Amino acid sequence: MNLLTSTRDNEISIDYTNAIIKGLAENGGLFVPKEFNEIDFSNPKFLNMEYKDYVIEVIGNFINDIDYKDLKKIVDISYDNKFDNSEIAPLKKINGKFIVELYHGPTLAFKDMALSILPNLLKFSKAKNNINEKTVILTATSGDTGKAALEGFANIENLDIIVFFPMNGVSPIQKRQMLTQKGENTHVFGVDGNFDDAQSAVKKILNDNNFKKILKENNYAFSSANSINIGRLIPQIVYYISSYFKLVKLNEIKYSEKIDVIVPTGNFGNILAAKYAKNLGLPIDKLICASNENNILTDFINTGVYDLNREFIKTISPSMDILISSNLERLLFHLADNDAKKVNKLMANLKDNGIYEIDNKMKKNLNDFKSYYCNESNTKETIKNVFEENNYLIDPHTAVAYYVCEKYQNENNCNNKALIVSTASPYKFPISVAKSLEIYEKIDDYKLLKKISSYTNTKIPNNIISIENDEIIHNKNILIDEMKKNILDSLNI
Ligand SMILES: *Cc1c(COP(=O)(O)O)cnc(C)c1O
Repeated sequence: MNLLTSTRDNEISIDYTNAIIKGLAENGGLFVPKEFNEIDFSNPKFLNMEYKDYVIEVIGNFINDIDYKDLKKIVDISYDNKFDNSEIAPLKKINGKFIVELYHGPTLAFKDMALSILPNLLKFSKAKNNINEKTVILTATSGDTGKAALEGFANIENLDIIVFFPMNGVSPIQKRQMLTQKGENTHVFGVDGNFDDAQSAVKKILNDNNFKKILKENNYAFSSANSINIGRLIPQIVYYISSYFKLVKLNEIKYSEKIDVIVPTGNFGNILAAKYAKNLGLPIDKLICASNENNILTDFINTGVYDLNREFIKTISPSMDILISSNLERLLFHLADNDAKKVNKLMANLKDNGIYEIDNKMKKNLNDFKSYYCNESNTKETIKNVFEENNYLIDPHTAVAYYVCEKYQNENNCNNKALIVSTASPYKFPISVAKSLEIYEKIDDYKLLKKISSYTNTKIPNNIISIENDEIIHNKNILIDEMKKNILDSLNI
């Protein structure tokens, strides 16, 4: 059976269904695959698959004790007409580069790619392991995970979902999406801190044995919808594979030709999924991490030093305003050849001194990663230029990746085809997009959306229009210190 272990204790062995239920390992560790079972991608069947078939192939590779029939049912209900594009992850060619659009799901950001299926995988996992406890999904969000998790988990039986977002750290549309969320089992709080504060507090609560005991006495157990849950990462492997085979079918590459992928990165989940696709045997050459001005990962990939002693910067790509990238811990474990002791040491250094440096062997293992960052003015310019030159509108996160792609190609004289990951609809960030296009006016959000729409001749997504007049249901702002109390209140404990 395919098993996982913990980044902080490689004696642990756990299967995928149980790892999805728990979310986080003990002592702060994250569940990681012990090894990867390569897929034979040279099989011609991969050329004629639909998105859902790739999902079945990938999930079946990790959760290999699930019936085909059960898996097919889960996949069919997860990737249905909630997505406004039948291809689920359509690919565009823009100025010689390929852009996979991952924002056609219900909440208009790439988090839907995994959060449309995670609730169904969790339900299956609980049934399979005869778990009757109620699940409490704790989620910290930098803007997009929150809504995608709320949408995915709303009205699921025996489950409550609680979301904490940085009060002043998300776009007005992102906020409206969350505050209008319907469903008796949904709970949303603005917190007085940034994403790092919220995520650290959530992780601390998930590791708080006394608190967990109180929950257990009330027949509740925690899990997580953040990408610290391995159930988030596995579905994210799929679009790298589907995009690769689209390129083959379009005759843009020959099978086995390597491509580079460029991923706008925050918590390091999306790019780690690309690394996992490579580990499964997908012909990927470089994994290019695109950062915004919070460029801690760029510095890490270039020097091997992770240094938290820096200012947190609020940018126009807020979903990437992160300094403590949780999933990097999984990469460290792989770079250290599954040596949990090394990871423990690095994490202890981070906790005590806010800094660590990996050794030379780990640095060598890091060599398929590259990284650059894009500052605020280049982000805006990129949105404007890409639109004016190609008549194609991108959001600020995608713009960071687009800029980094060009920078990498220019500096490295590179012939690989580039796959850029587009992570959000531009309509989630109307103020920044309008300012970038130099059409901004200080008007109501929805008027601004209409202005962008008529200027760019693109359509406002229905799921943004539909919430314009929805009632604000959640309006609680709390201090980080009040999170525990509000969790108990939400659960009526
Ligand atoms: C979450 C998010 C990112 C960052 O992805 P990670 O997996 O956290 O690295 C980038 N762009 C958008 C729009 C996001 O919502």
